[in-house]
Amino acid sequence: MAKLTVKDLDLKGKKVLMRVDFNVPIKDGVIGNDNRVVAALPTIKYVLQQGGKAILFSHLGRVKKAEDKPGLSLRPVAKHLSDLLGQDVIFPGVTEGKKLEDAVSALNEGQALMVENTRYEDVNDQGEYVKRESGNDPELGKYWASLGDDIFVNDAFGTAHRSHASNVGIASNVSRTAAGFLMEKEIKYLDVAVNDPKRPFVAVLGGAKVSDKIAVIKNLLGKADKVIVGGGMSYTFAAARGRKIGNSLFEEDRVDLAKEIIAQAGDKLVLPDDSLAAESFANDVPTKVFEKGIDDGWMGLDIGPKSIEKFKETLKGAKTVVWNGPMGVFEMSNFANGTLEIGKYIGSLTSQGATTIVGGGDSTAAVSQLGIADQFTHISTGGGASLEYLEGKTLPGIAAISDK
Ligand code: AMP
Repeated sequence: MAKLTVKDLDLKGKKVLMRVDFNVPIKDGVIGNDNRVVAALPTIKYVLQQGGKAILFSHLGRVKKAEDKPGLSLRPVAKHLSDLLGQDVIFPGVTEGKKLEDAVSALNEGQALMVENTRYEDVNDQGEYVKRESGNDPELGKYWASLGDDIFVNDAFGTAHRSHASNVGIASNVSRTAAGFLMEKEIKYLDVAVNDPKRPFVAVLGGAKVSDKIAVIKNLLGKADKVIVGGGMSYTFAAARGRKIGNSLFEEDRVDLAKEIIAQAGDKLVLPDDSLAAESFANDVPTKVFEKGIDDGWMGLDIGPKSIEKFKETLKGAKTVVWNGPMGVFEMSNFANGTLEIGKYIGSLTSQGATTIVGGGDSTAAVSQLGIADQFTHISTGGGASLEYLEGKTLPGIAAISDK
């Protein structure tokens, strides 16, 4: 699947519609972490350098009532982007109307304009929650598309699993939609991993709940050579194997499903043998390693040393690794070791020629907190979007990008 990218477009003098992900934390008008803004810079700069007139769209938070709007204005982001680009980003402060249209018409080559938070459209002037943006109102997508010169660059992977007016809606109303550099990278790594991996391909899944990741486990069992399952969700599998799990995380209503998966997967599924447990969910209580079963009154909070070795052995020689979800409660130092050891080991495979991908969300937080983020080939920026990709779903935002 080759998708059109921003480099395939003739941008000079064109009003280029662009969807970026500027959904950054803002408190009292101050941006907390600007990673997402920085990540979008290469595509924005490229469009401006080519002589395009960039019209930027992004959502920010969730707008459900009129009072949500003032605190969720993109104005501070426009100001910050101006600083990062070293040029003024025009901010009319609205999502539609004459003021916006006049500002767009007045744009010069190499200038950028930012539309106000696209989710302002979710609440109308009467304060009703009408979801024009989130519900992909066809008129809204058509209107936003009319502001540009028939080309759209989508660089917001984090919202690619949603069908909104500012991604799918605009794309449906222009002749050519292209991926920005960020989007291109996400598609390149996730798509190759899931659909055309170099083998052996090993998936490592962890995190709290089986119920959140059933579709991922099932899809990857059909694609990977081995699927390692650790973290809180491994205890439902342990219970399905007839083991005692003490007070560990447990989803009773998923035990039958876990049994089914174990029976179908055979030795493709690799589960922990031992656990590091504590008497309560805390970092300052005594810990103990249990092999096979966990005693009553104890809670498994990390994989144990034997499991770490077993998982490393399974990963040895892998040429593609997808990792989603921590091996234990990495937020507490006593239970971070399993995630750190497996993370470092996966990272070490990168220098041996493997493609190593971290699948977003909590795993991204884990690798950053553990200081190993630079060891991977690719860290996906979209939590929900990358999970849905790994589930094998077609993401509407990606499907709406034109083929080459
Ligand atoms: P997820 O969002 O499903 O990837 O889950 C991530 C969360 O799972 C993290 O906050 C971890 O602390 C938590 N987690 C991982 N292992 C365990 C465990 N053994 N017991 C409880 N929580 C866990």
